[in-house]
Amino acid sequence: MTPVTVCAGKTLALFGLGGSGLATAQALVAGGARVLAWDDAPAARQGASDLGIEVADLRTVDWSSVSSLVLSPGVPLTHPEPHWSAARARAAGIEVIGDIELFCRERAGISPASPLVAITGTNGKSTTTALASHILRTAGWDVQMGGNIGTAILALASPAPDRAHVIEVSSYQIDLAPSLHVSIGALLNVTPDHLDRHGSIENYAAVKERIVVGAEWSLAGVDDLYGSAISERAGRREAEATPARPPPGRHYPVSVERRLDHGISLDGTRIVLRIEGSPHRILGDVGGLTALRGRHNAQNGCFAAGIAALLAVSSTDIQLGLASFPGLPHRMEEIGRPHGTLFINDSKATNAESTEKALLSFSRVFWILGGKPKDGGIAGLKPHFPRIERAYLIGQATEDFAATLEGRASYERCGTLETAVAQAAADARASDLSEKVVLFSPACASFDQFKNFEERGDRFRALVRALES
Ligand code: ADP
Repeated sequence: MTPVTVCAGKTLALFGLGGSGLATAQALVAGGARVLAWDDAPAARQGASDLGIEVADLRTVDWSSVSSLVLSPGVPLTHPEPHWSAARARAAGIEVIGDIELFCRERAGISPASPLVAITGTNGKSTTTALASHILRTAGWDVQMGGNIGTAILALASPAPDRAHVIEVSSYQIDLAPSLHVSIGALLNVTPDHLDRHGSIENYAAVKERIVVGAEWSLAGVDDLYGSAISERAGRREAEATPARPPPGRHYPVSVERRLDHGISLDGTRIVLRIEGSPHRILGDVGGLTALRGRHNAQNGCFAAGIAALLAVSSTDIQLGLASFPGLPHRMEEIGRPHGTLFINDSKATNAESTEKALLSFSRVFWILGGKPKDGGIAGLKPHFPRIERAYLIGQATEDFAATLEGRASYERCGTLETAVAQAAADARASDLSEKVVLFSPACASFDQFKNFEERGDRFRALVRALES
């Protein structure tokens, strides 16, 4: 835990008693603050109370004694409308912040030079956070990994000079961190997402940009329009710097689409760092690394390698880390090769955009898809339908997807994942393709048939394992 000593003696209100809310309350109390905690769900309040956290109805507390409202990132700050607790705090002139902000303040107070790496983007955050952490650990660093992935940031060990914190941050968390300041800020990509919570893509991109602006070193993907504009602005700030007005930080663009003369880009499968006036440096090579299949993972690899290079990890160690990365469950996870067929679990692909990355990673696939459909369905994937050997439809999306596939690819209605796996496995086994791949990349939410994407992916894994026996 990181006790938040910078708030010692203060009283803070806290709304949202999920995992990160509980960790935050405990870290504040351990640091000497008083916390008045609340959640709309009685069970969450009881859970907090059982842990010794002071539960108080924030609708009736005296806000004049409160210094800050700590909001859980899942609770709306501005859109579609501010949550009542945020509105009350604002009316009382009280700041509204989140756990990342508290961590940044504590770091500034106790160990301002300790490495803090923050990774954001629309897609690839978890993979890049896990990969960068893995490379740094391989190189001998004491790494604390968390934030939006796994452990809440304040449940991690305190910042220290020989310890690197590698944190995944969502746009919601950045929104709640007004003094966000990190050693390395990485912005992978920006595509429309969560617009209900940010109002517009411009607002969403502006929130994401703060990770670049608030960093000593920053990296930004330039293969999309918003990332490219953000990177250009960072470059301009650097170019226009004077001794009296030094740049806020050094910036490196990242591309997997084109060679960059300044920044990190791909040469074939090699990750190359070029800095004007210096010899180029090969940081690593993602060729043949099955846990990093696909161009999207090459992007994640470029960022993770770049982060490691900025922390002075040698190219040899970066390559060792890239090559030994096991990958994350449910993201293009290789399950096994029963009867000569490769089975891939991409249950995390809950929309067509994510599934596109998976389809692009193989030349022919037996594709299992479906679930609770998203707006637009799979129409955007039509250019990739020639890669479909046969499609196996499950869940609520069946008729919608069947209509899109009709006349364009071979498909069948399977209803359940069990039937789809059995059918796809049998068809793959009977086919004479040289590389047989069953890809489970649903392009849908899971909630029609499963609790979440993890449960769905676990079921797929179990079904494939049963084929092996
Ligand atoms: P996040 O944490 O941002 O949701 P993940 O690393 O969990 O991202 O990956 C989720 C899905 O997003 C993957 O299954 C893959 O389909 C897709 N993806 C991963 N990395 C990228 C990337 N760099 N660009 C675009 N899509 C990606």
